[in-house]
Amino acid sequence: QPAIRIAIVGHGNLGRGVESAIANNPDMTIAGIYTRRDPAQLQPLTAGVSVYPMDALAGHKDRIDVLILCGGSKDDLPRQSPELAAQFNLVDSFDTHARIPAHFAAVDAAAQAGKTTALISAGWDPGMFSINRVLGEALLPDGATYTFWGKGLSQGHSDAIRRVSGVAGGVQYTIPVPEAVDQVRSGVRPQLTTREKHRRDCFVVLAPGADAEAVRQAIVTMPHYFDEYDTTVQFISAEQLAREHGAMPHGGFVIRSGNTSAANKQVIEYRLQLDSNPEFTSSVLVAYARAVHRMAQAGQFGCKTVFDVAPGLLSPQSPAELRERLL
Ligand code: NAP
Repeated sequence: QPAIRIAIVGHGNLGRGVESAIANNPDMTIAGIYTRRDPAQLQPLTAGVSVYPMDALAGHKDRIDVLILCGGSKDDLPRQSPELAAQFNLVDSFDTHARIPAHFAAVDAAAQAGKTTALISAGWDPGMFSINRVLGEALLPDGATYTFWGKGLSQGHSDAIRRVSGVAGGVQYTIPVPEAVDQVRSGVRPQLTTREKHRRDCFVVLAPGADAEAVRQAIVTMPHYFDEYDTTVQFISAEQLAREHGAMPHGGFVIRSGNTSAANKQVIEYRLQLDSNPEFTSSVLVAYARAVHRMAQAGQFGCKTVFDVAPGLLSPQSPAELRERLL
């Protein structure tokens, strides 16, 4: 079997994560990294990998099996995914949940017309968590589903802190409230408010001369981001921020609790505990790229999501090997 040739489109956190992930998957190889910036400015982690400008992509069609799109969900993927799905098989990690149906429609139109296979919204949420929500509901129709996130660094909330006047730097961690998780695990199906489910902890570096109490107030009362949560703000030095808060941990739980009869409660739990959110997300994208390659070879064209992919297609092993070893 020739190696599956993957092109990485966009070289931020996920792009670098895809490089690491492919190093762990011997059936895949990196065909190239494609960027909107000057290729000479990028430093791939993998020796011998070439970096090209985006406009070289169209001419490289015969060297590439699947694109992994590593652009941002806000501005990049809504444009790039439909445009590239017209020509290439691809995987993206589009994570703006409310806009997934519109994104699907745009990508599906392009992929149907171009006879390509384009899988959107892979990763962990959306992605692995979505699959576990579907399984929970299907297996325990009489029940309730709970998603908890964290402990994890939230990029959006960290950006929001950094926009507050008087803030020189900062990060925000989302923390599931342990009492709420315990209650859910016990199977009693509690009704939980936003405040009861998660807490937000902020670590902030003040700008010179800034008023700490004013900054704290501005953060904890910020609408949409913090006002509905119990939020703590701890002031630290720039050195401490760089030393202790440079990693991107994340994770969480999807829990379904239900009853199969009046007497019997059943609880299903799926947990992720991630040192690096982008490296894990990229590992998921790479496994789905393998599936996309196989689905394209089988003529299954159009836009797909994780719900449409059989688990065996993610594995490098054959169906016979999987039946023997893992069933
Ligand atoms: P990022 O580091 O900001 O990279 C996004 C894009 O920005 C890159 O592809 C790159 O494109 C460009 N870029 C990167 N570094 C740059 C720099 N120094 N200067 C200028 N441009 C730069 O974002 P990310 O952390 O990889 O995350 C990408 C998306 O993944 C997020 O928007 C999020 O929606 C999604 N995500 C999904 C999940 C999930 O579970 N589904 C989990 C995590 C993240 P060019 O190389 O073309 O410039």
